[in-house]
Amino acid sequence: MTANRPQPRPGVLDIAPYVPGKSTAPGVAKVYKLSSNESPLGPSPKAVDAYRTIATHLQDYPDGSATELREAIGRAYGLDPARIICGAGSDDLINLIARGYLKDGDEAIHTTHGFLMYPIAILGAGAKPVVAAEKNYTADVDAILAKVTPKTKIVFIANPNNPTGTYLPFDEIKRLHAGLPPHVLLVLDAAYAEYVRRNDYEAGIELVATSENVLMLRTFSKIYGLAALRLGWFYASESIVDALNRIRGPFNVSAPASAAGIAAIGDNGHLETSVAFNAQWLEWVTKELTALGLTVTPSVANFLLIHFPETPGKTAAEADAFLTKRGLVLRRVAAYHLPHALRMSVGSEEANRLVIDALKEFLGKAP
Ligand SMILES: *Cc1c(COP(=O)(O)O)cnc(C)c1O
Repeated sequence: MTANRPQPRPGVLDIAPYVPGKSTAPGVAKVYKLSSNESPLGPSPKAVDAYRTIATHLQDYPDGSATELREAIGRAYGLDPARIICGAGSDDLINLIARGYLKDGDEAIHTTHGFLMYPIAILGAGAKPVVAAEKNYTADVDAILAKVTPKTKIVFIANPNNPTGTYLPFDEIKRLHAGLPPHVLLVLDAAYAEYVRRNDYEAGIELVATSENVLMLRTFSKIYGLAALRLGWFYASESIVDALNRIRGPFNVSAPASAAGIAAIGDNGHLETSVAFNAQWLEWVTKELTALGLTVTPSVANFLLIHFPETPGKTAAEADAFLTKRGLVLRRVAAYHLPHALRMSVGSEEANRLVIDALKEFLGKAP
């Protein structure tokens, strides 16, 4: 029977569709969405102004090479704009990378609790996702290297990782790179790089600058608060940029996204405020959750992985239901093989306090 209708390529129907974080809580007047790691401070007001100015030019195609945006990124990070490609969010670029470097039968590696977009993009390109075990919810370089075969074409690693919030120090990333054959592309997804305040962390710029098989991926969706506009970019070698420019959508960055991105990246004050706000509340929420007897995986990003007991009445699923009734929407992470945990984005002060108060009540520790 199925032969009588169009068939997607092998692998496509093996993909479990990506389910975004919930944004509603039925019957609740005020919803605090802490399920998608969005910025509680929102974007720079300058980005909003720049976005608005484009409203009078909606009939015009955007610049297909996103030249001004790449130049602004290049200035901000000290990079050669010719080695940058922008796209409609990291998701667009992850698919672009998979399409450019994977063929049927190839393998690409990600870690057990790695970002779900990787297996989706790998399967979508007809290749096979290979899972490397983690240690303490952290990527394990030896486990990744042990999974490399002659068929391996890409290693995807989010650093820091979502949904665990953990990271690999630069020494470990360098050790991973040194252990990979030169034909394997190492994708360093640094979506949360700006939040990290650790001396031993490096997003990947140095490694990209000095090797032909490393790509660093960044986004405007997190610290820059522009998730609605879909804007991401990567920095890679000339040969990678040349190949992927040939197959990307010719207008894969919209004019409003580009304008807002340029303004956002020029507003250092807003960036610093957002980083400081996150550092303060990440620490506060971690401390409060720990005081409630919950285990929190130490996070360097803008979200926390909270582990719940398996005791009936105290489980992650029950906590999620309890919080949702109060309009506090966290992320269930069972699809990430973490059925007993919830991921909470660092929210506004009000939202953070409400979550702690609600969990006190849920765990029977309210005064
Ligand atoms: C949120 C996130 C991104 C960003 O995705 P966009 O498509 O740019 O919004 C990329 N990688 C990871 C690991 C993320 O958590």
